[in-house]
Amino acid sequence: MAAPSHRRSLRKRRLVAVSAAVLAAGTGAGVFVWNANATAVDLYHQALPAKDGWAASGTGTTGGAKADSAHTFTVGTRAGLVKALGSASDTTPRIVRIKGTIDANTDDSGKKLTCSDYAAGTGYSLSAYLKAYDPATYGRSKLPSGTQENARAAAQKKQAKQVEFKVPANTTVVGVPGTNAGITGGMLQIQNVDNVIVRNLAFSATEDCFPQWDPTDGSDGNWNSAYDSVTLRGATHVWADHNTFTDAPHFDRANAKYFGREYQIHDGALDITKGSDLVTVERNRFTDHDKTMLIGSSDTDSTGRLRVSIHHNVWKGIVQRAPLTRLGQVHIYNNWYDTTTVDGYAPLYSINSRAKAQVVAEANYWTVPSGGKVAKLLGGDGTGSLAGSGNLVNGTVTDLVAAYNAASSKKIRTTVDWTPTLTAGLEQSARNLPTDLATTTGSGMLR
Ligand code: CA
Ligand code: CA
Repeated sequence: MAAPSHRRSLRKRRLVAVSAAVLAAGTGAGVFVWNANATAVDLYHQALPAKDGWAASGTGTTGGAKADSAHTFTVGTRAGLVKALGSASDTTPRIVRIKGTIDANTDDSGKKLTCSDYAAGTGYSLSAYLKAYDPATYGRSKLPSGTQENARAAAQKKQAKQVEFKVPANTTVVGVPGTNAGITGGMLQIQNVDNVIVRNLAFSATEDCFPQWDPTDGSDGNWNSAYDSVTLRGATHVWADHNTFTDAPHFDRANAKYFGREYQIHDGALDITKGSDLVTVERNRFTDHDKTMLIGSSDTDSTGRLRVSIHHNVWKGIVQRAPLTRLGQVHIYNNWYDTTTVDGYAPLYSINSRAKAQVVAEANYWTVPSGGKVAKLLGGDGTGSLAGSGNLVNGTVTDLVAAYNAASSKKIRTTVDWTPTLTAGLEQSARNLPTDLATTTGSGMLR
């Protein structure tokens, strides 16, 4: 196995991050990482380093590090990925290496599938759906039901069968360097399983062909979509590392409007819901997206869980939910938020703390363009907390909560019920983050 080489700026982090049982020695352009048994650790077999966020808690997160050769796969097609992931209930450690970009909207022979292909035979058509549930005739008090809604659900089910990939326990899904590795149009679903690593992958164009109209969502109704690029539901010990998320090539500004509301074909980028717990989200790039990261799907999602560490990520061209937090203990450190409008994505807020969430946000860096308001970087419902210091706005230490509370009736609380201890790699100063993270985050960086 070739020794992994790392960019110089990654080296420092890796050296800090490896556990005491691991020796590291850098030479020339690359860095060799050895464990106590002198076996080279590659990006496929690497486990989450000790103390690296909530996912390091307890048994830690090893993914498929212990996979044997019979459970180590390299795949480049949708069908190959499905086969390699195996049964959702098989807990045998496995490594699934993705080579190149897998298009989720393809059939078993690799033929491209379109929205029309999924709608075929169901009786669904957008024009008939719009006619059936026009608020002018159908009203706004009840959810769509009847022939066209049934047809929509049937068509959506056909798409879901192609684009949803269920990841079993004890699995690492990882991109092969130098191949533009990733998944387009798909959703990795990590549900009710423990110990999963997702790294070095580019997720793009996760789109729902069949958004559902909900006239009761908000004051004007909303079109809602079904798929996140990566979704955690009741998942524990998950490490999402060095991935890139984007809506490209179809950006929200190209979305149609029906019933006066945006026909939103995207849902979350990386959602952590339904009692998920012990998650580390590290060195990812979240770009060109609206509802980016939900932690807790409702104000009653679960208690004593939803513990998530989010560090050294880039958030650029994000409208909201970076993240939206509920209930859990969430540590957000050393992230770079670039709130410049990108590809039509105009920011609403970065971090929302609601439903008694206990957020510690420290040493993050916000780039705010001229005219941008610091008071708009946060959000909340008046019950969430956000503590932490050392956050910089355009290089200046700024008390985000004070700015937010001065402008808001629903104040964010400033005390939390916990102190983060799993903080490997925490940098006290956010000053260099825009420079450092520009070249050390996202897919394609690991070698
Ligand atoms: Ca949704
Ligand atoms: Ca979602």
